[in-house]
Amino acid sequence: MTVNALPKSDSKVLPLLGRSLSELTEWVESQGQPRYRGKQLYEWLYTRGARDLGDITVFPKAWREEFAANPTIEIGRSQIHLHKQSRDGTEKLLLKLADGEIVETVGIPTSKRLTVCVSTQVGCPMACDFCATGKGGFRRNLAKHEIIDQVLTVQEVMQQRVSHIVFMGMGEPLLNYENLVGAIQVINKDIGIGQRNITVSTVGIPNQIPRFAQEHLQVTLAVSLHAPNQQVRAQVIPSADRYPMAALMDDCRQYVEITGRRISFEYTLLAGINDSAEQAEELAHLIRGFQSHVNLIPYNPVSDSDYQRPSESEIQTFVKVLEDYNIAVSVRRTRGIEAEAACGQLRGQHEKAVTR
Ligand code: SAH
Repeated sequence: MTVNALPKSDSKVLPLLGRSLSELTEWVESQGQPRYRGKQLYEWLYTRGARDLGDITVFPKAWREEFAANPTIEIGRSQIHLHKQSRDGTEKLLLKLADGEIVETVGIPTSKRLTVCVSTQVGCPMACDFCATGKGGFRRNLAKHEIIDQVLTVQEVMQQRVSHIVFMGMGEPLLNYENLVGAIQVINKDIGIGQRNITVSTVGIPNQIPRFAQEHLQVTLAVSLHAPNQQVRAQVIPSADRYPMAALMDDCRQYVEITGRRISFEYTLLAGINDSAEQAEELAHLIRGFQSHVNLIPYNPVSDSDYQRPSESEIQTFVKVLEDYNIAVSVRRTRGIEAEAACGQLRGQHEKAVTR
């Protein structure tokens, strides 16, 4: 059987996106092309954002026509299924993958930055009670090229270089470990985004935080704590039962020891659940002396959920208590609310509209 006999969407043939310069060079040579075409392909994939081999005009016409007539390999780009822009400049995309699954990605511009909120899974199995993605269930892990594609797509749509990446889209990054780490390497080395501008957000998966520390990446680890103690945490995060807070905090301590990097603790403020001054104090005791930063996220309302966002004065009281304990704290102001920018919301609403 020749390679040409493979159908277009054969999943056994890995797409080109995600391959290194030497792997791409190897591939062009396997196609009977000179080595330098590897460098050309590399630049067209990662710098110029080529979607199709036929678009690469520096390639010989005959070779491009051959691909068009008999595609044996894909670049591995998604299709833009829906593009929604909100007044604050945030742009939200639903991307259609080769198997028809839909994943969400968001471009968040600020004066000097363009941050992409990247998904690592279609859906999420963690089922956190306040999260729109959690409510929708789990479909599958994203492949490495499907993670990278989100960055290139936002860059293309917004006509601006991406400067920062937050793995805070759909899914739990540490449940898709190899593809996450592989994608970070490509985003850093091949797309050129500094590791220090990359944040990985996790709810915590047993053994995975110390494992991630051993990668010795310069990225920021954000841990979704959301509670000052195990009891409250287990109330909103079902997986906390299998990974108690004491074990999670031990792993975080180990992470700081191994990497020398501080951890960012995320804390979604839910009115009447975890937002009292006493709970702020309890949180301060929990993380005192810990090389960390607390990022408070006032709850962003999602449909089918009874949680409420605390009032501004309650948020400020919580901040003040932490500051009094000399804890570095910031409040994340949710952008793109009109574009349903809370995690997983756009896809959730889209699915409802389609099934209605
Ligand atoms: N699975 C990863 C990424 C989730 S999204 C994790 O759990 O860390 C990034 C952050 O937003 C997480 O801390 C998540 O718990 C939080 N979040 C999800 N839905 C939210 C909502 N509706 N309002 C406020 N924060 C939310």
